[in-house]
Amino acid sequence: MSTPHLKPMYVNSVEKLKEVLGENIYKSIEPYLHTYTGKVESVKPVAKHVTIYWIGRAEDRMILRTEGEDDIILSEVKEILVPTIIFRKLKAVYLREFMQLLRRQWELYDKEIREAMGDPNYDFLASCSLSPGIAKGKDDNKGTQIGRCMKCPADVLMGATSGLTEYNLVSRFVGDSAYALTGNYRARTGTAVDEVTYTTYTYTKERKQQDESKTGAVFTENHVEPGTLFVGKTVLFMPSPVELLYVLWLSIRTIRVGARTSIWGTMKVDPVALVADLYEVGSSYEASEELLNKTDEEEAREGLLNYVKKVAYATGTNVVEVSIDMINKLRSVNVVDKDLVKELWLNARNYISAVNEYIVIKKKLERSISS
Ligand SMILES: [Zn+2]
Repeated sequence: MSTPHLKPMYVNSVEKLKEVLGENIYKSIEPYLHTYTGKVESVKPVAKHVTIYWIGRAEDRMILRTEGEDDIILSEVKEILVPTIIFRKLKAVYLREFMQLLRRQWELYDKEIREAMGDPNYDFLASCSLSPGIAKGKDDNKGTQIGRCMKCPADVLMGATSGLTEYNLVSRFVGDSAYALTGNYRARTGTAVDEVTYTTYTYTKERKQQDESKTGAVFTENHVEPGTLFVGKTVLFMPSPVELLYVLWLSIRTIRVGARTSIWGTMKVDPVALVADLYEVGSSYEASEELLNKTDEEEAREGLLNYVKKVAYATGTNVVEVSIDMINKLRSVNVVDKDLVKELWLNARNYISAVNEYIVIKKKLERSISS
């Protein structure tokens, strides 16, 4: 079941994937990788998934909560409450990191990227931002969401919406929450410090005087202790070779998760197993039930690998164990290599071309029905 047509369009990323994973392992994954040709057929959903299981380790105190909630997010695993990182938070971290990398690529090769995108006027920095309102839009579109360019590799892989295009992009980067393997978390009490002045004084329009602006608020924070292990799962839907390569590269990094800019906690992430299959395999919650109370990283890794083998066995799929050798090779991939950069952006352009072709076909069809 080989798909030789993957090679010409993704020649550099296929080469790198073979170097990192080994030729035979790459071949076993290839049937589940997708080619975006620019034609409408290529964006129709096909059952192709790559599931990545990983073990995370808190390298710092981590405060885990969502906006509006002050408490740590907990999930019940076998009657024990364990700290939980919801996937939305993890995705936001990876989207931010991917966007930063794309901006660096743009700094180096804006000319080549414009060429790959087939648009001499395309301005990635000006037209795409994660903070709403920073990217410029048309004046007559006030009130619509305009922050995203809707055609860069981040939008195409991780999803985006905009009021200026006729389409929204659904994320093909999905996954499960990450669950801590132990119920360890502590409460800390402190005095609220203003994040700009780093004092307990906050000056606002209403409170200009020092004596009335002292916050003095005592707060309590629940945090995860450093060393706490987590189990997580990331899934790529219909990934192209170049998208898989970049996600693998992103997935071996230490990431910053947690509340508020000044107190983000870092987490080291180690991918343990890859499963390429028609559909995603297993869940991180189920894995957390099997790994509960493990505090040794090596043991957790082994336990996770056994779990993945067990659930993959049920569907007859091969499990790829992510070795130290693979991780070292991944680390040495030059993600701002010009040829890889061009492939990544061309992949995004083809995706959007196909979406636009679909919209044209649909409109013609609608017109012919109504006439
Ligand atoms: Zn964009």
